Amino acid sequence: MVIVCAQVHRWVNYESMLKECLVGRMATKVPAALKAMIPPPPPTSLLPPVSVAPPPPDKDSRPRYDWFQTDVTVHLVVYAKRKLPSSGCTQVDLEAGVLRLEVLLGKMSYMIHLRLADEVEGNVSVHTSFSVGKIQVTIRKQTKGKWESLGQPLEFHNTFLRKKDRAPFYRECVLVSKTEVNHNTYVFRLQLPRGTVRHVPVGQHVYLKANIQDTEVVRAYTPVGQNLSVSSNNSSQDSDLYLMIKVYPDGVLTPHLNSLHIGDHLCVSGPEGTFSLRPLRDVTHLYLLAAGTGFTPMARLIQAALQDFESIRQTKLLFFNRREEDILWRCQLDELAANSERFQVEYVLSDPSESWTEKRGRVDESMLKDVLDRPDGSKCYACVCGPTAFTELTIGLLKQQGFSEEELHAFQG
Ligand SMILES: Cc1cc2nc3c(=O)[nH]c(=O)nc-3n(C[C@H](O)[C@H](O)[C@H](O)COP(=O)(O)OP(=O)(O)OC[C@H]3O[C@@H](n4cnc5c(N)ncnc54)[C@H](O)[C@@H]3O)c2cc1C
Repeated sequence: MVIVCAQVHRWVNYESMLKECLVGRMATKVPAALKAMIPPPPPTSLLPPVSVAPPPPDKDSRPRYDWFQTDVTVHLVVYAKRKLPSSGCTQVDLEAGVLRLEVLLGKMSYMIHLRLADEVEGNVSVHTSFSVGKIQVTIRKQTKGKWESLGQPLEFHNTFLRKKDRAPFYRECVLVSKTEVNHNTYVFRLQLPRGTVRHVPVGQHVYLKANIQDTEVVRAYTPVGQNLSVSSNNSSQDSDLYLMIKVYPDGVLTPHLNSLHIGDHLCVSGPEGTFSLRPLRDVTHLYLLAAGTGFTPMARLIQAALQDFESIRQTKLLFFNRREEDILWRCQLDELAANSERFQVEYVLSDPSESWTEKRGRVDESMLKDVLDRPDGSKCYACVCGPTAFTELTIGLLKQQGFSEEELHAFQG
């Protein structure tokens, strides 16, 4: 037996592990699994880390869960029975002893919903093995001891439903900062509650809900990253939500958002939307056509294309606005284009000043012909986002240019 570490945490020491691993009612298989993996007694009690064996193959493709405990922690394990998207698919909420876990698997959603058996600390940690399809949620007990059960099932516990059949679930987030982007648009940074762990997949949106003059108002917003930087791995480090929001003086929700103070609360739903990064595999040329705040889904998409898709040789953003001062994150876009040969941006203004020398007008056939390059052997994909009229017109024009349904995505509500 090779000892890989001079110092090993007590949890990877079999003797202490077995002594401290109090097994809950639903985890009766765990000792057998552990026993099967225990090699002959080592010369010392130090052993390399142990992984829990995956569940036996099951014809039923429905996810399942299991749990185990030590005297200080409770571990809930979900076996999704398929690979998990690395862009994130798990939402965990722990509040007042109630655990709600939702795993988004394509159009389906698996949910665990329990009132936990005893008091726990507010934090929760989630570890995902994407290729294995395993999600492990760890919660700390408030007092040491053995739990007889994990808890009481609540509504929709252990259900596997179509995502659209579940009502959005809102959490109270705190506004921690508001940064001006231009004369009418701000980035609102929202902090999730302590017991919430979740990630909004690239291109998906959330709903903000507020009560305005006794009426519930709900609007969709697409999270952006903290900035456009490709090297800083801010998406995985930072659990805060960044929403780039244009304030309409005659709007219902945005003037309310604009009046909020730092420390105020806002109700935010989990992710919604149909966009998936999967079609981008093998794509060589990615075209993004955005108008105004239709830029928001493109922001993280640009980062993902440059960071995670080596096959994408060229990502080109065609960004439509009325005037120069309306262009969102222009400096960052220009900097990214200057530093990456794989990214290009072109701005089109419908109402430019006389000094504007770049593209002007509205989207039309000749403009798209000029911008979209489809070299032999390339695999192209185009994404469109903006006001409905812009999106419909642009999608029609792209189809005229030979883009098939499979090569297009329109971000819509
Ligand atoms: C999937 C999806 C994602 C979205 N993501 C974002 C985002 O990331 N950032 C963002 O700022 N907005 C986004 N929106 C738009 C957002 O949901 C609201 O529609 C917008 O903030 C206006 O809300 P309001 O209540 O202030 O205005 P409303 O009361 O709904 O509208 C009042 C007036 O505002 C103007 N107005 C509102 N929306 C538009 C528009 N899109 N184009 C032109 N004029 C408009 C019109 O004059 C309208 O009459 C998204 C919409 C969808 C469907």
